[in-house]
Amino acid sequence: MLIVASSNADVVMKAAMAVLRDGGPALDAVAVAIRAVEANPHDHTVGANGYPNLLGELELDASIVDGRTREAGAVAAMKGFAHPISVARKVMETLPHVLLVGAGAERFAREMGFEAREDLLDDDTRAAWETRLTRDMPREVFERVAEQPDLWRWVKLASDAERALSTVNVIARDARGDIASGVSTSGWAWKYPGRVGDSPIVGAGNYADNRHGAAGCTGMGEMALRAATAHRVVIGLEMGLNVEQ
Ligand code: ASP
Repeated sequence: MLIVASSNADVVMKAAMAVLRDGGPALDAVAVAIRAVEANPHDHTVGANGYPNLLGELELDASIVDGRTREAGAVAAMKGFAHPISVARKVMETLPHVLLVGAGAERFAREMGFEAREDLLDDDTRAAWETRLTRDMPREVFERVAEQPDLWRWVKLASDAERALSTVNVIARDARGDIASGVSTSGWAWKYPGRVGDSPIVGAGNYADNRHGAAGCTGMGEMALRAATAHRVVIGLEMGLNVEQ
């Protein structure tokens, strides 16, 4: 049994390992770990209190892959639900689709009984957004940010190195040798609305195959999208390369 995760999942490694020790499937261990990080209000890169987009809206991305079958589920740019990883898993288990975005993902989450939430950003997180934007943006532009006809000009704020990046990645192998991998993120801080990164794109930010291994990405998602990085890493393992190579 094995769990490999990004450091922000430290706090839940014991709970996730307990799932595997009790004979639970890798998919459950991945979901337990990621849900805990999504619920952590101090992590500003995943789930509740993630840093929002340029408009101050929290848009979440997540995916999960079952290494036994390469079945996968994902949601992207989803607003108003705290646990995108669980909605992604439901997509995998319930629909003949892999990826739902925006309003469709939100509709599906409601149909599956997930609680819609309006309180996913606290005052401090909103204040961080306002402080960062108004450092560069004139106050009158900020006050009407949603109506700006050239919002694209402000996307340069999204490369704010202090705040832009991080994600939770969890890969688990259970007692049967089955592998699952999950990724969840609020994406780049202050991103352009509707921007989708690598995390919910199977093969880019997340991939698992029982026969060879799994990979999850963090960092500039645009790079992993361009290079199909997670799939490429697993193909490398299939070809006999080691992880370092
Ligand atoms: N890869 C994520 C994204 O681009 C962010 C990160 O992992 O830092 O949305």
